Amino acid sequence: MLTSIEGKSVIVTGASKGIGKGIARVFAGKGAKVLAVARNKEAGNEAVEELKAAGGTAAYFQGDVSSWESMQAMARTAVDSHGGIDILCVNAGIFPTASLVEMSPEAWDEVLAINLKGTFLSVKACLPHLPRDGSGRIVLTSSITGPITGSPGWTHYGASKAGQLGFLRTAAIELAPHKITINAVMPGNIATEGAEDLGPDFHGKMVESIPLKKLGSVEDIAYAALFFASGEAGYITGQTLVIDGGQVLPESLGAIL
Ligand code: NAP
Repeated sequence: MLTSIEGKSVIVTGASKGIGKGIARVFAGKGAKVLAVARNKEAGNEAVEELKAAGGTAAYFQGDVSSWESMQAMARTAVDSHGGIDILCVNAGIFPTASLVEMSPEAWDEVLAINLKGTFLSVKACLPHLPRDGSGRIVLTSSITGPITGSPGWTHYGASKAGQLGFLRTAAIELAPHKITINAVMPGNIATEGAEDLGPDFHGKMVESIPLKKLGSVEDIAYAALFFASGEAGYITGQTLVIDGGQVLPESLGAIL
C-alpha cells in the first residue's frame, strides 16, 4: 500500500482521452485534486464531469502544451484552483503516421512541438510551483517506440519520444537539488481512443507480437505513474518503466507465435 496522495494537486496533460484520462481517473480516485488539460473543450469538460460523478475533485483547463502562454496559464490555474502543484503528469501527445518519403517538414514540426517541446514547456511552467520538500513529482509518458523500438511511419514520433528521455536525464540532475523527482513511463500498445484510430489491423498485428497476448489498459499505465508519484518512489529519479506486456523482449517474433 503506497502513501496516500489524497489532497495533492495534480496536473494531467492530455486528460480528455486515453492514457491521460486513465491517469486522471486513478489519481482522482485516490483523492487527488486533478486539473485535466486538453485542447478540445467539450471532451475535456466531459472527462471532468465523469471524474466528479465518481466522487473526485477535478477541473478542466483548455490548454495547448505547445504554447508557452497556455502552459503558464495552466500552472496559474492549478495554483489558484487547487492551492499549488504537487505532481505534474506530462502525457499529452499525438502520433500521426507518415513515411519519411511522404512526411512534410510541417508534420515533423507539429509532432515535435507537441510531444517534445510540449514536455519542456509544461515542466518549465510548473517548476516554480512544485514543492521543494521532497514531495514534488514529474511523470512523463514516453513510449517504447523511439527509445527502444521503431515502427514504420513514426520517425518524427520516435524522435520525440526518445527526445523526452534525453530531456528527462538532465532534468533529473538539475531538479535533484530541489528534491523534485522526474521519471517516465514507457507504454507499449495501449487500448486508447487515439490508438483505435490506427485501425483493427494494426492492433491485431501488435497483439501477435506481445507475449501477454493483449493490449495494455490505461490503468496499467496509470498505476505505474501513481507509483512514481508516491512517497515511496522518492529515491527514484531519471528512470523509466516499460509497461508493454513483454513486447520488447522477444529476439524473434516466431518464438512467441
Ligand atoms: P489519445 O487517446 O489520442 O489522447 C491524447 C490526449 O492528448 C487527448 O486528451 C488530447 O486532447 C491531448 N492532446 C493532444 N495534443 C495536445 C496538445 N497540443 N495540448 C494539450 N493536449 C493535447 O492518446 P493516448 O493513446 O492516450 O496517448 C497519450 C500519450 O501516451 C501520448 O504521449 C502517447 O505518445 C503515449 N503513448 C501511447 C501509446 C498507446 O498505445 N496508446 C503507446 C505509447 C505511448 P486534445 O486533442 O483535445 O488536445
